Amino acid sequence: MKPDCLFCRIVARQLPSDVVYEDDAVLAFNDINPQAPTHVLIIPKRHVATVNDVADADAGVFSTLVLRAREIAGRLGIASAGYRLLFNCNEAGGQTVYHLHLHLLGGRQLKGLG
Ligand code: AMP
Ligand code: ZN
Repeated sequence: MKPDCLFCRIVARQLPSDVVYEDDAVLAFNDINPQAPTHVLIIPKRHVATVNDVADADAGVFSTLVLRAREIAGRLGIASAGYRLLFNCNEAGGQTVYHLHLHLLGGRQLKGLG
């Protein structure tokens, strides 16, 4: 855990969150500023800052996050209508929290990428 990391602190339950899924490796919780009716963040419990920082040997974290996002989409009833999965990386990519997270967005018609 990185003590000054917002999402590490959520994992450690030092900060509250609206958890929708948890297992040994992953936590998922509702985004505090949702951009769609469903907006869930799926994160690894182990701290890694950005997509750039995931070593090839640890690339399984990406499939884990995507598979859990797919499962959550199914549970929330948006799988067949459709949804968007998104990683922002670093400043120009719009990343604001430097703990890897996958956005799951759905529940409305999503248009282009901004
Ligand atoms: P990004 O811009 O890709 O780094 O996404 C960070 C996301 O974290 C944003 O959508 C924020 O609304 C969300 N966020 C920030 N603080 C919290 C929090 N305490 N609980 C839940 N979501 C948060
Ligand atoms: Zn962290």
